Amino acid sequence: MKENPAAFVLFSCILTFLIGMFAMLDYPLWSFPVTVVMSCLIFYMYQNSTRVLRQHQVTEPKQDAIKQEIQETYNTKITYQVVKGLLNILPSPYILIDRNGRLTFINAEAKSIVPDSQIGSHISNVFRSPVFLSAVENAIHKDKEKTLSFEIETPQFRQLKAHIFFISSSKIPNSFNDIFIQFTDESTHIRSEKVRTDFVANASHELRTPLTSIMGYIETLQGHAKKDVKMQRVFLDLMNKQAGKMERLISDLMSLSRLEIDELKPISSTCSVKDIIEELVNSLKPLSIDNNVSLSFKIPKNLSSLLGDPSQLRQLFSNLIENAIKYSGKKSKVNIYISKEKHKDMFGVVVEDNGHGIAPEHLSRLTERFYRANSNTEIEKEGTGLGLSIVKHILIRHRGKLQIDSKLGKGSKFIAWLPKMKKTS
Ligand code: ADP
Repeated sequence: MKENPAAFVLFSCILTFLIGMFAMLDYPLWSFPVTVVMSCLIFYMYQNSTRVLRQHQVTEPKQDAIKQEIQETYNTKITYQVVKGLLNILPSPYILIDRNGRLTFINAEAKSIVPDSQIGSHISNVFRSPVFLSAVENAIHKDKEKTLSFEIETPQFRQLKAHIFFISSSKIPNSFNDIFIQFTDESTHIRSEKVRTDFVANASHELRTPLTSIMGYIETLQGHAKKDVKMQRVFLDLMNKQAGKMERLISDLMSLSRLEIDELKPISSTCSVKDIIEELVNSLKPLSIDNNVSLSFKIPKNLSSLLGDPSQLRQLFSNLIENAIKYSGKKSKVNIYISKEKHKDMFGVVVEDNGHGIAPEHLSRLTERFYRANSNTEIEKEGTGLGLSIVKHILIRHRGKLQIDSKLGKGSKFIAWLPKMKKTS
């Protein structure tokens, strides 16, 4: 009856009528107004009860809905925290943005790409690329996922690939509405591709230059110098020099490629630094005399042995000592000794000269392939620009490192740090 107001009205009316009838028998005068007042009272009660009933009927589902909403928000929050936690440990850069284009999350990897970004900032304040921003707009307003490449200039140039996507609630229950953007930094790949193409271009250029000279001399020998014996001797001498240059370049290129192949191969042989340097100093004496450079060395016998590839270490020290003789200038002194600087597990072999020195802007680039500090001088033309790059690779293979200290007009110090041999008991 509570659910059926019509039955309630009928029942109340019958009850009122009966009470009225009974009352009329005893009190005919009062019975009519009493019946009317009671009817009103019953009607008022009915009204009230149906209102409360109606209210109750409306409020209960509403409360359930609110409860459900709270539960869903709570679940979404939990999901959000889980997703954020996962994105934080992923090695890829990730950001999340809401449907207003504002940053709601950025993981550590993405922060390294855009360190100035703040949660709550609009995406257009974080990235300036129009192609990227229009893809984000399409994602926000048209739910369009997209993968695209774009560049950023600040804080440093990067080539980025962005994958803009959503995660629907069918994939993750209680998922939220945010848009996911995953980045891939393609700069390293592009840079290494550039290094490779530069290397091929440089190597071909360096080989073509002496080859072109040789071809020119051959043409002259076949032409107007055909019968001139004196000229023939001069040209053959020049051709020999150019061929020697080509040979050095090819041998350096082969050394580099061998070193790259062997880089991870463990070294099992031992050798004596003192013996290698002594032998080199003797063989380079003629070069030092030609260049009017005094050459001396002082290597103690007790640290002479180390775990190393003898032919590679010979090449390493030969490149450093030859450079010191070639580039330090006439009347300079080249000394080879063990560094007094203490390094826990390493010792440093110093090749020092008191020559021209190297300008600071070149220092960090000296071990790049084909890099020369001053490519205009005659001496520079004799080099291949690969010597220090080979030194670096040999040291990498030996788990060592190269230190270069130089001052213009004062001279240079090249220190090859090598691991000490562990004592076996
Ligand atoms: P290169 O075949 O030209 O000698 P390297 O890689 O051995 O190539 O050396 C790179 C450059 O470093 C040289 O061209 C030279 O400008 C500079 N350099 C190397 N050693 C010295 C030194 N001892 N003094 C001055 N400059 C040096």
